[in-house]
Amino acid sequence: MTEFSIISRYFQSLTTQDISVGIGDDCAVFSPPENQQLVSCIDTLVAGRHFLPDAPAHAIGWKSVAVNLSDLAAMGATPHSVLLALSLPTLNEDWLAEFSRGIADCCQQYGVQLIGGDTTQNPTLTISITALGWVAPHQAILRSGAQVGDFIAVTGQIGSAAYALRYPDSALQNTLDYPIPQVEFGLALRGYASSMLDVSDGLAQDLGHILHASQVGARIQFEQIPMADEIKTLALDTQKALVLAGGDDYQLCFTISAENLNKFTQKFDFKPYIIGQIESGSVCHFFNQQQAFTLKQSGYQHFATTSH
Ligand code: ADP
Ligand code: MG
Repeated sequence: MTEFSIISRYFQSLTTQDISVGIGDDCAVFSPPENQQLVSCIDTLVAGRHFLPDAPAHAIGWKSVAVNLSDLAAMGATPHSVLLALSLPTLNEDWLAEFSRGIADCCQQYGVQLIGGDTTQNPTLTISITALGWVAPHQAILRSGAQVGDFIAVTGQIGSAAYALRYPDSALQNTLDYPIPQVEFGLALRGYASSMLDVSDGLAQDLGHILHASQVGARIQFEQIPMADEIKTLALDTQKALVLAGGDDYQLCFTISAENLNKFTQKFDFKPYIIGQIESGSVCHFFNQQQAFTLKQSGYQHFATTSH
């Protein structure tokens, strides 16, 4: 089987919508909707680092699309399409069939199509996905807009994927294998949230990006962070490590004024969980039941000598 038959057997049919040119030529060609800006991002998943090499291929396919749609969601963008750069160590057709089905299922769930990519051989399985989407001018929700007094909120439970990584085959395994990008929630927050990002590398570290970009500080009430019952039964230090420094959540973390929060909850059924408030300064203070505490580690970092 050649590179070209891999593409035509497993990927060509994933260009589904009506675009001018899809998979098969040198580039894809399509027209942006009127008065929309292009929003783009890329995320790479490396076997042994972002997923276990023997993880189910369908889950790897789903997750590699989902983590990119999560980045688009974090901007309040409407996802449109993805491109897939795939480096395979060997040609395993069973694996490829399941992997492309995972890609297709996630694309279909969010109305996205695969419009191109690249296929190469490489000793380490590596999947790099570029995602494209749209947002109207000035509507993208940036990291830099948080204001003193804003509430800090998340869209769902934090720490579940880190729990699943630590305790294999637990009831939370699906949260690690099949993250759900918060696309609709992110879209609904346009015009309401003052800043936003998706939680991929640990809540404390990711929130730190908002604080840095917005030049503000924060106060977080640990006991208000939504978490799975499985985590609540653990020792408090372990809870803090999983919820504040664990990765792979793909929930959104955003800031919102009291007035906008009121309007938002009246208009939409989405339920944000308030976990703290923006303060002046540049530091994040953590409290559990009024008790201040400090964090040993705030999240995942590539290249850091002290990280796992
Ligand atoms: P080129 O040599 O011009 O870069 P390729 O032979 O790499 O073109 O790719 C041929 C077509 O197949 C292009 O449309 C490309 O976008 C698409 N393609 C290649 N690999 C993949 C893949 N893994 N997933 C989706 N589309 C792919
Ligand atoms: Mg070419």
